[in-house]
Amino acid sequence: MARTSGAKKARKKKPDSTEKFRQKLVAHQEEILNLYERDLKVGQEASDDGTEDIVDRANNSYNREFMFALSDSERLLLLEIEGALERLDGGNYGTCLNCSDEIPKARIRAVPWARYCIDCQEQAEQGVILDS
Ligand SMILES: [Zn+2]
Repeated sequence: MARTSGAKKARKKKPDSTEKFRQKLVAHQEEILNLYERDLKVGQEASDDGTEDIVDRANNSYNREFMFALSDSERLLLLEIEGALERLDGGNYGTCLNCSDEIPKARIRAVPWARYCIDCQEQAEQGVILDS
């Protein structure tokens, strides 16, 4: 992919589209947090109105207990989402972290927290690209 689409200059503000993705990401985040809450309730009966609490706590800092309660995939996903939200704030959301190409819209829609374009994702899965 030698397409230089000026993706580095992601200064353009597109509040509508990014806001949609942000909502999607946050919804996913909450989904995972809700799973955690459910597990917590199974563990200890009396968890009254802990929803806000847990979301806040998890958002503020992924504390050990919280991260421990999640499965590996949930934890990874949460970190992916976190990273995507940071990229949204930083204005480089939707840009491949490896080749700086634009990540295809269809991919972003399917995987809103995608870090790489499809080519680079394949390389990442093969261990060619090392996540940092
Ligand atoms: Zn790429």
